[in-house]
Amino acid sequence: MWSAIPLAFVLALGGTSLVAAPAANAAGGGMISVTFDDGWTSQYNNALPILNKYGVPATMYIISGSVNAVPDYMTQAQIQAFASRGDQIAAHTVTHADLTTLTAAQVNTELSQSKATLQGMFGASAAVDFASPYGAYNATTTAAVKSLYSSQRNTDGGYNAAAGFDPYNILVQNVDSTTTPAIVQGWITEAKASGTWLVLVYHEVGANIGADIYHTDTAVLDAHMAAVKNSGLPMVTIRQGVEAMTSTTTGPPAAATSAINALAAATPRLGAPSGNITCGLVSGGCYRLYQGGAINWSPATGAHYSLGAIRQTWAATNYERGRLGYPTTDEVGGLVNGGVYQLYQGGAINWSPASGAHYSLGAIRQTWAATNFERGRLGYPTTDEIGGLINGGVYQLYQGGAINWSPASGAHYSLGAIRQAWATTGYERGRLGYPVTDEFASGNGVAQDYQGGRISWAATGGAVVSYR
Ligand SMILES: [Zn+2]
Repeated sequence: MWSAIPLAFVLALGGTSLVAAPAANAAGGGMISVTFDDGWTSQYNNALPILNKYGVPATMYIISGSVNAVPDYMTQAQIQAFASRGDQIAAHTVTHADLTTLTAAQVNTELSQSKATLQGMFGASAAVDFASPYGAYNATTTAAVKSLYSSQRNTDGGYNAAAGFDPYNILVQNVDSTTTPAIVQGWITEAKASGTWLVLVYHEVGANIGADIYHTDTAVLDAHMAAVKNSGLPMVTIRQGVEAMTSTTTGPPAAATSAINALAAATPRLGAPSGNITCGLVSGGCYRLYQGGAINWSPATGAHYSLGAIRQTWAATNYERGRLGYPTTDEVGGLVNGGVYQLYQGGAINWSPASGAHYSLGAIRQTWAATNFERGRLGYPTTDEIGGLINGGVYQLYQGGAINWSPASGAHYSLGAIRQAWATTGYERGRLGYPVTDEFASGNGVAQDYQGGRISWAATGGAVVSYR
């Protein structure tokens, strides 16, 4: 059972929670995690759009042996769609075996192989935390989990209080087909009143799925997530929740305090502090809010400020939990046309008066770099990445054109007369499909190859489309 004693533990995650106002969290009013078990395809089809709609982060406990292998379970690409939002990918064994029925060697195989598989697919931040199939555990299996994972979520009912918190038996509220929105609202009210951490456990999502009770209708999930969002509580992944629960007994590291204070003194734009230094962020990070923005610190990146339009763009990528990670520089000015950039662990955000602030990441950033960034023909980005194109494609617009990416074709720029010719064929939706090269010298001009043909350009004759 949950404790009825209000607990004044400090929620360390408030500064970068997706929804809740940072300053409101420091009082210790509870938090919420939404978790999904097993990796069902119905979670991709039916839950992901709702999570996006309300900006709710999720923790996905994946059966590693089912990925790309078993019908009705998500593919790696579908799980990546969650990971790309900053959702946590966590482990749930290889075969969904009841660990308490296995030999020690079999338990080790279930735990270690699922960790290796998920980290191979999703990187080192995956499979840090674990959930026991069927909620089945004992002292022996828990000891094995402790040797490989940083937490264990079972299905014991309750609310997690800071006092006596056990990261190897995270308490939950189990959601099934009988769980009405009013029940979820009641759980939220309890978590708020007691200042505890509410962890919701979902299985399949969608109408008429499964003969058992372990599913939630899509419209009901929508109502649940609306209640979660409207609670005003910080919405956290399991990792963030565990870090918040376990970081409350120690103050910020001395290195964080001195670096943040020194940077604040040198940065008048920040204004006065509007909160204390708060830690427990991913990768051991801390932050402090100011009237004009924030300073973020982590052991790997040091202290860097976050301000204005560039901060807004960072926020839209889910702060340090998103693809950009922590800032690794302050703002750097002096670019062409009055531009400014700030580097992050995963890329950069560029701003100029004419183009606004937009991030630059991954393969698309590499292609932009190859064109000499804002100094080249593309100029500054004028949008962030825009997904939803056919065959999993993404594009980003620039002052001079665009960069298109798809899993099959990679990232390639699209510029000038050749871009105009591609546009007349319907872009990636036409017979040419996606570009598979950048421009290259050809004959008396240049050419660019596409999945379905080539566009050649010369000063005499202009652009010519040829299909394969
Ligand atoms: Zn399960």
